[in-house]
Amino acid sequence: MVSTIAMERNLERMGRRLTGPRRELLSVISGLEGHFSAEELASAAPGVGRATVFRTLRLLQDAGVVCQVVRPDGTLEYRLTAVGHHHHLVCAECGSVDDFSGCDISDLLSELALRTGYEVSAHRLEVYGRCAACQARGEASARTPRRPKAGRE
Ligand SMILES: [Zn+2]
Ligand SMILES: [Zn+2]
Ligand SMILES: [Zn+2]
Repeated sequence: MVSTIAMERNLERMGRRLTGPRRELLSVISGLEGHFSAEELASAAPGVGRATVFRTLRLLQDAGVVCQVVRPDGTLEYRLTAVGHHHHLVCAECGSVDDFSGCDISDLLSELALRTGYEVSAHRLEVYGRCAACQARGEASARTPRRPKAGRE
């Protein structure tokens, strides 16, 4: 769990001032369990305008305090982070999110920059699948109601 103090330190290192609404959002975020959507954050902080909520989320992402998770259906969620550059493994079945770092794509990116003339500034990578727990659950429930098979295909 990331403490509010750690988040504030992160932000201050970035030279950002913690205005009243930002401070309020930070304490609301640290009270939210796990991941949250922008809507959930907005309704948890009714005193803060929606535009400020979205702007602050952006700022917190830039400061590395909050990261964005893209769900399999394309919806966006946010979670607190303190691990630096990382990506997500998202389970399409239970929705759990695991972080992983060490995306070794710098060769790919520099090759891409060379080939296309792009000045690459960022990249995004999400990995989707079924987590180990969901696979274990699936196998367990497949074992119990053992129905005789009519035949093999
Ligand atoms: Zn993350
Ligand atoms: Zn799962
Ligand atoms: Zn990466």
